[in-house]
Amino acid sequence: MMRIKTVNEWLKEKYGTKVYRLSLTSGCTCPNRDGKISYGGCTFCSEGGSGDFATSDIDEAKKKVNGKFPKSIPENQRKYIAYFQSYSNTYGDPDRLYELYSSVLFRPEIVILSLGTRPDCIDDSVVGMLKKLSAIKPVWVELGLQTVHEETARRINRGYTLEVFEKAYRVLRNAGITVIVHVILGLPGESEDMMLDTVRYLSQLNPVLEGIKIQLLHVLKNTALEKEFRIKPFRIFTMEEYCHLVIKCLKILPSETVIHRMTGDGSKKLLVEPQWSGDKKKVINYLNNLIAKS
Ligand code: SF4
Repeated sequence: MMRIKTVNEWLKEKYGTKVYRLSLTSGCTCPNRDGKISYGGCTFCSEGGSGDFATSDIDEAKKKVNGKFPKSIPENQRKYIAYFQSYSNTYGDPDRLYELYSSVLFRPEIVILSLGTRPDCIDDSVVGMLKKLSAIKPVWVELGLQTVHEETARRINRGYTLEVFEKAYRVLRNAGITVIVHVILGLPGESEDMMLDTVRYLSQLNPVLEGIKIQLLHVLKNTALEKEFRIKPFRIFTMEEYCHLVIKCLKILPSETVIHRMTGDGSKKLLVEPQWSGDKKKVINYLNNLIAKS
């Protein structure tokens, strides 16, 4: 059987208990949406900036996930990751962001700060801020690479080149920050081999890749991608095709890479395609079966 390390297993080993994510917002926007780079954003990005469940209120976020904890874990012993997911959470005044993130990290129930952002929102002042924060507790930075192919990056209006990603990745890793890279399978115009190229590239990164989120492309309502899909439909994976491709990705990655996600995580209300991905339990079961047989 293929051995993979999921983030839940990793967290349980490290913290001895379940650790859940709180989806939070920092008030940052995104340079790919506010006009600094473009107004359109990445074509797949929803109005919520790819964080449709997020809130700015940490106690409200806790209430949302508390039902997931086993009853045996008393409320005052529950541990959480503060996950700032929507938009670009290092795009803003570093002093304001330091205040916000450090106040979150000083809360005893928060064990990790995780910030979703873009590689072009990592500069010296941001790295300095992240280093200061990581002296309090571990900090993860999630970079949305999605693909190594420049033609696809242009087509989805990603707004930066692979070179920009590489530089940000190295700077962050050399500063001791954990980097988790997002990849999307199913981007328009990409063959399976092109998608695997992205995973091959990540598997050879130096310093080594610590974590990956493998995501299924979601076509969401009111996005540029939805328009593109309606005008000129592109290939949408079946559940079986997608899961078999995920297995190929997992086989390429070094066994130490922590797998943070293997499916999409979009809002069901906004989901246009693939409709099967709304049944997340079914997808995860199918994937786990394949992993067990591989
Ligand atoms: S970088 Fe993130 S928030 Fe910005 S447009 Fe792309 S997906 Fe949306």
